[in-house]
Amino acid sequence: SAKRDGKRTFRMFEASLMEDIRRRRSLEAALRQACMRDEFTIAYQPVFSSASGEISGAEALVRWTCAERGPVSPVEFIPVAEELGLVSRIGADVLRRACKDAASWPGGLDLAVNVSPVQLLDPRLPQTVARALEDSGLQPERLELEITETALLNNDEAALRTLTQIQELGVRISLDDFGTGYSSLSYLHRFPISRIKIDKSFVQRLPDDLGSASIVRAIAQLGESLSMKITAEGIETDGQLTFIREQGCDHVQGFLTGHPIPAEAFADLVARAARVAAS
Ligand code: C2E
Ligand code: MG
Ligand code: MG
Ligand code: MG
Repeated sequence: SAKRDGKRTFRMFEASLMEDIRRRRSLEAALRQACMRDEFTIAYQPVFSSASGEISGAEALVRWTCAERGPVSPVEFIPVAEELGLVSRIGADVLRRACKDAASWPGGLDLAVNVSPVQLLDPRLPQTVARALEDSGLQPERLELEITETALLNNDEAALRTLTQIQELGVRISLDDFGTGYSSLSYLHRFPISRIKIDKSFVQRLPDDLGSASIVRAIAQLGESLSMKITAEGIETDGQLTFIREQGCDHVQGFLTGHPIPAEAFADLVARAARVAAS
């Protein structure tokens, strides 16, 4: 009967819900352990100047290889870390280590580090940034923190204060995944933002999708008229790269020009690039 079928469907729904909860609890436990055991590493994705084609820096991307699960994507574990109150610790650790790594790269390359909206709510963030710079000796001008629009949405007085303090250290702020959030354009002059990163969802539909092409063109013009730098992320094809360069975007980042790679591999890459430049 329909009633019996309904009951069975409900039981199945209940069972799968229980399974989701179990899986989530186990991920939480593994993540807490990962924090204690320092199971995180950093991958660096090279960023290139669109005009010269030279490597200009890298974005630090956290990596976690869980003993039981294997590699877990930050897309999956960062939101859990945010909820568990672990993201400030993980983020501070990534920042400290990335600054140390970057201080040893030749040629004064730039370093970009992602900051979670939860970290931005922590009034101690400017101090954490100052410490990471001091301990590593990295010049503040070489560091850029990537925030998302969500971080500016709530509690924007506090966010403004924190970002202003960070900017006063000489560190730049960029707006990541631009176009996917609430994109209130008032953010762009209300907050000390010096770069916009065009989200890969637009870039990946280039050059054929007219909507994405118009959006990318508009963001590039917006950046230009506000004197902000523009990075296009998620470039995978030559066609995308050509389009982006024609729009005058300053920097490019994507699998076409370089995947995220382990710290040692990135250090080798930049050492090779520096030798080529010197020869
Ligand atoms: P994001 O900051 O926008 O970083 C770019 C993401 O796009 C990275 O994914 C990168 O591997 C991926 N990507 C780069 N080029 C391409 C491409 O050509 N094609 C495609 N399909 N993907 C590309 P990843 O490393 O998995 O990181 C995902 C997100 O996790 C990041 O997005 C960022 O929001 C967050 N995340 C990563 N590391 C950290 C961190 O240390 N702290 C915080 N709070 N968040 C982080
Ligand atoms: Mg980013
Ligand atoms: Mg992004
Ligand atoms: Mg993102």
